[in-house]
Amino acid sequence: MRIPEHGASEEAVLKQLEEYRANDVPWRSGRTFGYVYDGGREAEAVAKKAYMSFLSENALDPTVYPSLLRFENEIVGMAARHLNGDADVVGNFTSGGTESIILACKAARDRERARRPDLGTPEIILPVTGHAAFHKAATYLGMKVVPARVDPGTFKADVAAVRSALSPNTVLLVASAPSYAHGVVDPVAEIGQVALEHDRLFHVDGCIGGFLLPYFAKLGDAVPPFDFSVPGVTSISMDLHKYAYAAKGASVILYRDKSLRRHQLFTSAAWTGYTMINTTIQSSKSGGPLAAAWAVLQFLGEDGYLELARQVRDASRRLVEGIDAIDGLYVMGKPEMTLIAVASDELSVFHVIDLMRERQWYIQPQLAFDGLKENFHLLVSPGNTAWVEQFLTDLDECTQQAKTLESGAMARQIEEAFATIDPDSLSKETFDQMLGMAGIGSYDIPEKMADINEILNALPQRLAEKLLGEFVNELFRQPSE
Ligand SMILES: *Cc1c(COP(=O)(O)O)cnc(C)c1O
Repeated sequence: MRIPEHGASEEAVLKQLEEYRANDVPWRSGRTFGYVYDGGREAEAVAKKAYMSFLSENALDPTVYPSLLRFENEIVGMAARHLNGDADVVGNFTSGGTESIILACKAARDRERARRPDLGTPEIILPVTGHAAFHKAATYLGMKVVPARVDPGTFKADVAAVRSALSPNTVLLVASAPSYAHGVVDPVAEIGQVALEHDRLFHVDGCIGGFLLPYFAKLGDAVPPFDFSVPGVTSISMDLHKYAYAAKGASVILYRDKSLRRHQLFTSAAWTGYTMINTTIQSSKSGGPLAAAWAVLQFLGEDGYLELARQVRDASRRLVEGIDAIDGLYVMGKPEMTLIAVASDELSVFHVIDLMRERQWYIQPQLAFDGLKENFHLLVSPGNTAWVEQFLTDLDECTQQAKTLESGAMARQIEEAFATIDPDSLSKETFDQMLGMAGIGSYDIPEKMADINEILNALPQRLAEKLLGEFVNELFRQPSE
C-alpha cells in the first residue's frame, strides 16, 4: 500500500472513513454489553468538543501549557476527594487503566529497590481475578506476579492466600474494587492490614469501580470500604474513560503521598535535546483526552453521575435476577456493581454467545482459569438499560437452543492432540492445524467464535497465550495490493 499520490477532498476522505465502519460493533444500538461506556449523547458531544478544542496541544511539557497542568491537577483533586484522600494525595492523568497500573508497579519496584538494596526480583501478589494489566506490567518491568487463589464461591481474594504468598521480595499487594471478571470487591480492609503488618505497598485496582462505587454507596448499597479511608492502601488506579464517561485515553493513578509518587517520575538531561520531564509513560501527548475528561466531569456533575449510577444499578440487579431465573444458566457469585459473569453446567456458554450475536447482542467470553469455570460476561452501561427485558427474553431462547447443540468434542480433540506440545516450539504448521480444527482457514476475524473459544478454553494457558500471539501477529499485516 502506498500513500495516495494526490490528496483528496475533505468530503471524500470523511466519506471513506464512514465506509470503513461498516462492520464495527453497533454500540449505539444499546445491544453491546462491553467495550463502551455510554453516558448519553449530550455527554459524548461535550467530550468531543472539548477533545477537539485541545487536540493539538501537547502535554509533553507542563510549563508551556498551564491550561493542561490546571486540568490535570483539578482532575486529580476531584479524584482524590472522590476516593476519600486527604490533601497529601497526589497523582497523574494517564492514558488508561493499563498505564496507571504499569506506573503503580514501577513506582513500587523503584521505591523498594531504593529502600532495600538486597531485593531480588520484585514480586507482586495478585489474586487470580486481578486484571491482566498487572501481568503486562510485570513482563515490561522485569517483575514477577505471584498469584493468590480466590474463594471459589464468592470469587473474592482469599486473605490467607495473600498472606502466604508474601516473601522477602514482595513489593506490592493488589486488590480489585471490583474485579472485572466477576464484579466483586476484594477484602480491601483485611489485605490493608496484611500490608501494614508486613510494611508493604498496597495498590487497589479501582480502574472500573473506583469512580462508580461511591455513587452506589450514596444510593444506599452496602459498598465495602476500598479507598484511601482504608489503612494500608498506598495507591489507587481509577479510569475516567469507564464510568466517568470520558473519551478513551483517560485514567488517574493516585498515591497516598508524594514520597511514593516520586518513584513514578522520569527526568533526563542525558542527551543533546530538551530536558525530559515525564510524569507518565507517554511523552508527547494530545491535550484532547485531558480536556475531554475535565469537561465531562463538569458537565455531568455529582447529580448527573448519581442518576446514571441509579440506572446501571437497577439494570444490573434486574439482569442478575432475570438470568438466575433462566433454566440452564447461573450468575457466578454476587455481583456488587455492573459486571456479571454467567456460567452453565449443562451447555456451552460459547454457543450462547454466538446465538446471541446472530440477534445482534454482543457479550464477551471469559475462559476457565485456575478451577473457575468459563462464562460469559456482561458489562452494563447506561446505553443498555432500555434493553434489559428484550435481552433476557432473547437470552432465555438462545440458552434453550444451545442445549441442543454439540459441545465438548473440540475440547477433547484438542486435549488429545496438543496436550504434550511445548508452547515454545509451536510451529506455523501446528498453529495452522489448530485454526483448521476450529474451521478457520485464513487469518480473518471469524464469524462464529464458539469453536475457537472452546479450543482456547481447553488448551493449557501458555499454549493458548502462544496461539493468541501468533494470531495477532498475523492479523496485523500489510493489506494485499
Ligand atoms: C479496564 C480495567 C483495567 C485496564 O484498563 P484499560 O483502560 O483497558 O487499560 C484494569 N483493571 C480493571 C479492573 C479494569 O476493569
